Amino acid sequence: MRDFARTPEPPPTPVERHGPLTFTIQKHAARRLHYDFRLEIDGVLVSWPIPKGPSYDPQERRLAIQTEDHPYEYGTFEGVIPAAEYGGGQVIVWDAGTYTVIVNNTPVDFHDRRQIEKLARAGVDKGHLSVFLNGRKLKGGWTLQRTRGKDVKSQWLFLKRRDQLQGAHPDITAEDRSVLSGLTIRDLEQGALPEHRANQLAPTAEHASNAYRRALPRPY
Ligand code: MN
Repeated sequence: MRDFARTPEPPPTPVERHGPLTFTIQKHAARRLHYDFRLEIDGVLVSWPIPKGPSYDPQERRLAIQTEDHPYEYGTFEGVIPAAEYGGGQVIVWDAGTYTVIVNNTPVDFHDRRQIEKLARAGVDKGHLSVFLNGRKLKGGWTLQRTRGKDVKSQWLFLKRRDQLQGAHPDITAEDRSVLSGLTIRDLEQGALPEHRANQLAPTAEHASNAYRRALPRPY
């Protein structure tokens, strides 16, 4: 168990949110580098550290180990956890965005928050969950498949689904900048810190120049 009295992270109190559900992947240079994949479910972040990080290759079976749920607010954290504390090391938000669950090869409408949460929770409980991620780096379907144990410390595989987005990037972890601050782990090691804490995980036009609102292009 994490000793919450000794770390800067509060225990997870569920938050109430609206709009599409979100996910985050925090790249964390702890004793061993890993990528913390976190899905917003019922107001907290259900979490799986993935030592090698995600892949667009459906043949890559990436190990994921479920850890304690984290507070929703933790999902935008970037900075340095003191070396003496649990998880000491640098953290950046490597990817973030919205997600839905895939049922019968079809993503549930992103706005059907209640239904998605219900299905996501059931999927975590039964050890099989397919999600459609709409991140900046990860787009498309991935499956989480539990292979051993239950709850904290259970082992899962994080697998790219075979959809039209497989193979979209040969090595996505080579894209090593934060999607929120643009910083890398190396930048943090050298003393840089984000200018401000991002307040949400869903994409915004905050940093885009000349951004304007228009209809989505029609898919072909
Ligand atoms: Mn971690």
